[in-house]
Amino acid sequence: MDILKQNIRLIKGVGEKIENYFHHEKIYTYEDLLNFFPKKYTFYEVKDINNIVVDTKITTQGIISSQLISRKFRRSIDNLIFSMNIFGKNIKIIIFGQPFLKYNLKVGMKVTIHGLYKPKLNEIIVNNIFTENFDAKIDVDYKLDGISNLQMQRFVERALLNVSKESIIDDLPVDLQIKYRLLNKADLILKAHFPKNLKDLHEIARRLKYEEFLNYALSLESLKQQKEKVIKNPKNFSNLKISDYMNSLPYKLTDDQNITINTILDELKSNKVMNRLVQGDVGSGKTIVALISAYATILAGNQVVMMVPTEILAGQMYNYFINELNKYEVQISLLTSSIKKSIKDDTLERVRHGRVNILIGTHALLEENVKFQKLGLVIIDEQHRFGVEERTKLVNKCSNTDALFLTATPIPRTLGLTNFGDLDISSIKSMPVGRKTIITKVINEFDLDDLYEKMNERLENNEQIYVIVPLVNESDKINAFDINTAYELFSKEVKNSQIGILHGKLKSDEKDNIMNDFKNKKYNILISTTVVEVGVDVKNATMIVILNAERFGLSQLHQLRGRVGRNSLQSYCYLVSNSLESERLRILERCSDGFTLSNEDFLLRGPGDYLGERQSGFDRFDFADFSKDENIWKVAVSDAVYLFEEYNNNNKKYTIVEKITSKISTKTNKLN
Ligand code: ADP
Ligand code: MG
Repeated sequence: MDILKQNIRLIKGVGEKIENYFHHEKIYTYEDLLNFFPKKYTFYEVKDINNIVVDTKITTQGIISSQLISRKFRRSIDNLIFSMNIFGKNIKIIIFGQPFLKYNLKVGMKVTIHGLYKPKLNEIIVNNIFTENFDAKIDVDYKLDGISNLQMQRFVERALLNVSKESIIDDLPVDLQIKYRLLNKADLILKAHFPKNLKDLHEIARRLKYEEFLNYALSLESLKQQKEKVIKNPKNFSNLKISDYMNSLPYKLTDDQNITINTILDELKSNKVMNRLVQGDVGSGKTIVALISAYATILAGNQVVMMVPTEILAGQMYNYFINELNKYEVQISLLTSSIKKSIKDDTLERVRHGRVNILIGTHALLEENVKFQKLGLVIIDEQHRFGVEERTKLVNKCSNTDALFLTATPIPRTLGLTNFGDLDISSIKSMPVGRKTIITKVINEFDLDDLYEKMNERLENNEQIYVIVPLVNESDKINAFDINTAYELFSKEVKNSQIGILHGKLKSDEKDNIMNDFKNKKYNILISTTVVEVGVDVKNATMIVILNAERFGLSQLHQLRGRVGRNSLQSYCYLVSNSLESERLRILERCSDGFTLSNEDFLLRGPGDYLGERQSGFDRFDFADFSKDENIWKVAVSDAVYLFEEYNNNNKKYTIVEKITSKISTKTNKLN
């Protein structure tokens, strides 16, 4: 039998307990074990501190020269303080949160330390302390629960005793290995688990980065290929009726809106299933694109379903569609979880018999009993707010329906893709004319006088203000604003304030009432959690104050900011934060373009938000980093296309392509 497929239990030292920890990481066989690489490498090289003049992270060595004292630092953290003689200097050493070290360390001991050296203060804040002595070494970190790094290396060592180099299968095609001078799999396994020097680290990183990117690019390509096979009945509708409607609009569509609409109309008419993502900044006018697509679908005799993330938005969307399409005798219904059962049952009955043309709703649409007679188009607004499972569930209500996704969180430009796997992308970059840039300011949470003054000004002008807080209730654990604290603060500091309160824990009719009261100016300030993040439209609101702005991503802040600036009045966004994180937030002061911000966010926070949800298994990049390795990514994308081409058309056997294709299709099938 193939040794690589043997159970890890056969390795000496792997008992039931360890086995369970391995199973958490999906490690079952020798092969899985050998392919589970460290998640992080740290290179330590002992340095003399004498020539260092600015704060620097270093590894250095010396003798403990004083007793160790532990002190309380903040409520629950102990720190340890002592002196060391390091290359002839007497240095103060501080270690946070590891008071137990006191028992291992003694005066006169020679230790190696790694930490932040602050020459002006003559101190080192230590992260790691080693009682062994070395000039240079590499630490591997598998980041495993319940299994130490040393244990892990032993298991790998033992497994390798029985495995020959030749038996190790390498999925990465040899021509690519040669082309980029990459390690082969057998060498990779040896070096990755037991790196000896910096050169090893460099080589490991090159292969792993490339492989991570290539796998990801291949899975996107695979999604795309599987999609292209899906055929549907073309939709027939009169272009004239559509252009009549477009001409009746009180404004002129922007060029990008026109291009996007034309692309969609063509796709509705074709026999290939449409799967299109329309990305466009907050306020760029995506709704009208959705509405025209829906209208065309109805003209072709099909039903449309539209899912939005919140009840507030569903209500708003429903009213908008009724206003716009009423004159064409289109039947539109609303479905949310808070609608009375008798009404809901009636709606579902009419939907089932094709007597409702457009059904608009929230997650409630996903329920089993929502069935259509001739569903032709699925629209998902603010699609980034839904998981891929939810989106697929709705799309699969009927086979081979067209799908249209709208989002204000664009696919990062760095990815450089014109499609995102099975999604084709349209971008609406130009904004409707006459919009003013929102003035954005980052302010310190300890200095709010300026803010109160600005709030008073807005209210004196009879304009309205949103205040966003991160928490509903006060919390011991999280040091951030909650609704009550904000309420007390602003009712005291802002003159003539009438404050409404909105959060996710309210019942939906309560939410609707409060939102309507705000719209109708019963309140001039609305304190809310991020439930107002998406789509809500109150044109008279000209200021948004976001408390603890550091807790949100740039794209999310940008979305929140999009609640204001919805008419020709000048609008303002105040980002209140402690000073620590304000540099990141200042990007928002300079930048009002959601495409740029999404990319910045992506570079800062990594791809998880985009990639994780599209297909699991490829969602973790341990080594590859888009902010540093853009060039490797570009190569990987074109290699992925090349591999598929060779595989499909020239009968090349690529196991890497086979594995990814089957992984992607099981995933897709499971969702169906
Ligand atoms: P979003 O893209 O954020 O969903 P909306 O579709 O809600 O934006 O549009 C925001 C506002 O802009 C709406 O009031 C809409 O009627 C208006 N609008 C859309 N397109 C245009 C246009 N071409 N010219 C002027 N106003 C427009
Ligand atoms: Mg919208």
